[in-house]
Amino acid sequence: MMENHKTDRSSRRSFLGRIAAGGALAATAGIAACVPPFGMKVSKAQANYRDQPNGNQRCADCMYFKAPNGCSVVQGLISPNGWSRYYKARA
Ligand code: SF4
Repeated sequence: MMENHKTDRSSRRSFLGRIAAGGALAATAGIAACVPPFGMKVSKAQANYRDQPNGNQRCADCMYFKAPNGCSVVQGLISPNGWSRYYKARA
């Protein structure tokens, strides 16, 4: 009887631990898909940056663009007519 009680507690702890670990993993995966943490920049290659727009999306219209040739997410000189996978239209 006591053994079952111990086993139940142990199982519950194990189950809750797995939920916490899964949540942390999901959060990490979510962060990886979003912009890098504040103050960190990624390389042009990591951002799939190019000097041409993607349809009607271009750096000059992106919320991360810093005129005249900068970006708060991607390293190096950025063309106002460029584009990367981190593009986010200004609100
Ligand atoms: S599209 Fe990419 S490179 Fe261009 S400003 Fe936005 S985040 Fe930076």
